[in-house]
Amino acid sequence: MMDKDADDKLRQAAEAINAADALLITAGAGMGVDSGLPDFRGTQGFWRTYPVIAKLGLSFEEMASPAWFKENPHLAWAFYGHRLNLYRKTVPHQGFSRLLEIGSAKPGGYFVFTSNVDGQFQRAGFAAERMVECHGSIHHLQCTAPCADEIWDAESETVNIEESTFRALEPLPRCRNCPALARPNILMFGDWSWLGHRTDAQQQRFAGWLNGLAKSSAKLAVIELGAGSAIPTVRHTSERVLQSIRGALIRINPQENSVAVGQIGLPFGAAEGIRRICDCAENLAGGVNPRD
Ligand SMILES: [Zn+2]
Repeated sequence: MMDKDADDKLRQAAEAINAADALLITAGAGMGVDSGLPDFRGTQGFWRTYPVIAKLGLSFEEMASPAWFKENPHLAWAFYGHRLNLYRKTVPHQGFSRLLEIGSAKPGGYFVFTSNVDGQFQRAGFAAERMVECHGSIHHLQCTAPCADEIWDAESETVNIEESTFRALEPLPRCRNCPALARPNILMFGDWSWLGHRTDAQQQRFAGWLNGLAKSSAKLAVIELGAGSAIPTVRHTSERVLQSIRGALIRINPQENSVAVGQIGLPFGAAEGIRRICDCAENLAGGVNPRD
């Protein structure tokens, strides 16, 4: 049972979504957990997923360093190759398609801003040109050097991993333009060679969309999912856009759901939060009293 306060907030969130001309979805790691993706927040969760990395005593931050492509390329590609294979076969949970349905029906459409590199929004049918992947994407590659400015689709690459030793098998993905290794176009820790132009172009399209909304005095609903305060980029974006566009922030997070006065914080996981809000929004729109 939910208390009355949570019930009221859910209704407010549903009303804000129904009243909005456009939908912005901002998402952090919590969005993927409900599709069964591993939780890398906290070293213990990370080590449960990668026992070999646990034996080496490396944290996620230490492992997610471009230096490994030089120092131990077979380990580096085991780490990223395993994730690439995992994300390719993951089926996005239902929350994705429900948000896509709502966003597509809005006159101003939708945009997605995410720190996730897993490509799950695109897998769920979201348009590639309506996305900002602020930390890049595992489904795109670049040169480790980098010798050129090129970023290419990883679609044609397969990475095979020897499970017992957690080493990627030859041939490892190579640069298209030189003999160097390729690496995912993901912004890593201490990363000076990440090519940012794909993400920059996404940011420009996003800024253009926001400008259009501001000029037409559109009303925006921002629904933020599973974005923690440890890496605050996503949370900042949710708050920043509402400084120039009127609308509501709906922050869905099991723990860190505090919001400014007038905004809406809900203590749910991503899939459950979306389901509850969408059910409530549909009931309100259809004039059905959910208590009937
Ligand atoms: Zn190269």
